[in-house]
Amino acid sequence: MTVTDRLTPQDPRNQYPKPPFPQQPQPAPGEVARIQPVPDHGEHSYTGSGKLTGRRALITGGDSGIGRAAAIAYAREGADVAISYLEAEQRDADEVAELIRAEGRTAVLLPGDLTSESWCREMVERTVVGLGGLDILVINAARQQFRENVEEISSEDFDRTMKTNLYAMHWIAQAATPHLQPGASVITTSSVQAYDPSDILLDYATTKAGIVAYTKALSKQLMKKGVRANVVAPGPFWTVLQPSGGQPQEKVEQFGSQTPFERPGQPVEIAPVYVLLASQEGSYITGEVYGVTGGAGIA
Ligand code: NAD
Ligand code: MG
Repeated sequence: MTVTDRLTPQDPRNQYPKPPFPQQPQPAPGEVARIQPVPDHGEHSYTGSGKLTGRRALITGGDSGIGRAAAIAYAREGADVAISYLEAEQRDADEVAELIRAEGRTAVLLPGDLTSESWCREMVERTVVGLGGLDILVINAARQQFRENVEEISSEDFDRTMKTNLYAMHWIAQAATPHLQPGASVITTSSVQAYDPSDILLDYATTKAGIVAYTKALSKQLMKKGVRANVVAPGPFWTVLQPSGGQPQEKVEQFGSQTPFERPGQPVEIAPVYVLLASQEGSYITGEVYGVTGGAGIA
């Protein structure tokens, strides 16, 4: 989709592909080249207007999906961007780096596993060195692997989901806080799962509720130094998280059909919220949860 196609007023229900989608199992972490239809992360459809000129951003999970859309938007708004991802995602990360550099901005690539505390801390330090500081912290990486029954969630599963979605958030926030100056912004990614959990996402939904509480508490601390912190809570978005074990294939086939739009959101459709919350236009916004749910709501 081009910028004109995306920004021309139209019925949003028909703006992007609707289910049914093909079943398409792939191993976690998913790879963008293997999801059909191809998601719109803004590669050809996001245009910037200088909202983040000279800002320095770190986005975890910036190689694909929502994080990739935020990375592209941030670079087009004038920011330098560091992205973290797993080593297996090098190809996706290289594509994002190329898009950032095409805007004349600096890209820092940070492959590594966020379930390691030492890596989380090192990653923040590498960002600060690579970009010369940190103004925008987007904590977005996540593990989502469905399990039909509570008995099937092994301690290993539970531990890995908690480490990726909650512990890493804490380690990264803790390491980053000393670097954040007044005007900086922290953004975490929760989910509608925090409010209306699916039976098959017990561990994941628990972490997404935890992210909301943590971010709201953190926002109260950070405002004492002039730093804002907010949560984005997406509904169903067409990303590689879902076919790579996030949902059963029958649900991938119908993904987004339960919304009033009868389709999933595309990653570029949530990028403007990450831009708003990062930019000085969001100057009076902190401790909030922004739902982008396709009408499901987050109450
Ligand atoms: P995605 O798979 O594209 O992004 C998730 C990223 O997390 C991966 O790219 C990977 O780099 C990173 N990651 C996972 N485990 C990691 C680890 N151990 N170490 C380092 N990195 C790791 O999927 P997405 O849908 O764009 O997910 C982004 C965020 O959006 C997540 O927090 C997810 O929970 C949230 N979310 C997504 C949806 C949806 O429908 N896609 C809905 C609600 C919330
Ligand atoms: Mg990825």
